[in-house]
Amino acid sequence: MKRVATWTILIWVAVSGMHAVKAGRVADGQAPPQRTQSPSTDGKLNIIAFGAHPDDCDQRAGGTAAKYAALGHRVRFVSVTNGDAGHQTEGGGALAARRRAEAREAGRRIGIDYVVLDNHDGELLPTLAVREQIIRQIRLWNADLVLAPRPNDYHPDHRYTGILVQDAAYMVVVPNVTPDTPALRKNPVFMYFEDGFQKPDPFRPDVAVSIDEVIEKKIDMMDAHVSQMYEWLPWVAGALESVPKDATGRRRWLRETRAAQPTAAVKAMLAKWYGPEKGNAVRYAEAFEICEYGTRPDQAMIQKLFPFLPK
Ligand SMILES: [Zn+2]
Repeated sequence: MKRVATWTILIWVAVSGMHAVKAGRVADGQAPPQRTQSPSTDGKLNIIAFGAHPDDCDQRAGGTAAKYAALGHRVRFVSVTNGDAGHQTEGGGALAARRRAEAREAGRRIGIDYVVLDNHDGELLPTLAVREQIIRQIRLWNADLVLAPRPNDYHPDHRYTGILVQDAAYMVVVPNVTPDTPALRKNPVFMYFEDGFQKPDPFRPDVAVSIDEVIEKKIDMMDAHVSQMYEWLPWVAGALESVPKDATGRRRWLRETRAAQPTAAVKAMLAKWYGPEKGNAVRYAEAFEICEYGTRPDQAMIQKLFPFLPK
């Protein structure tokens, strides 16, 4: 009798262990994402953002993430590729390891979680396998709000990240899809990052967030991506000589070159959410457009999802 009970326990431990590994399936050796508490039990939001490369989310939503983190909400950034191609002198596994470490450090600097999925940089396709990775991430994070690029972009990895998240936007609630990870009962709100592409449609912001008081945090975050900000991006732009050598000069240079002024459309949204006077005075902002898939938020839900907007 005792032997039977011991075997039962051993088998149960083995099976549940296998299930945990499969459900997490972060193929680059990181620990599987932990299930978070539902916002209904502690009043905190679960925000997840997807970018193609380990610095994309930072540039589009790093300031907003810092604001969530400061209020105790949970934010996870996910890079769908491992960044193992975009560099002029490095590549492969060594570059992927460097990029993963930079992403982790960027997350640490503002108090958010950062996951890098192990898909090759420059080769991302909207396959069923990657869609399932995205579905698992959204479910395990128990997301209230999902941020992602729009599917119109010069870079195929960015474009397909947008498609992959769109393709997950309904499937996260379907129990028979990716059944190794329990389906969400409530579809999150999905929103797009800002971009400058005009065709077929320009970005139309629905929410604009002032990040003036956290701009240094955002710069901190971008500064952690040394191989991107100070090596690859300036090299590919033919401007490697313009990168300052000293730490203070580099941060100033990042602020000057990577923190753009709000566009007219974003300014109009700032005026809507903050009032004309306060909105006009905003120097740095991040803006988001509601995706037509997933839950469509009304004004009250937007206020809830962006708790730092003035009431
Ligand atoms: Zn990118």
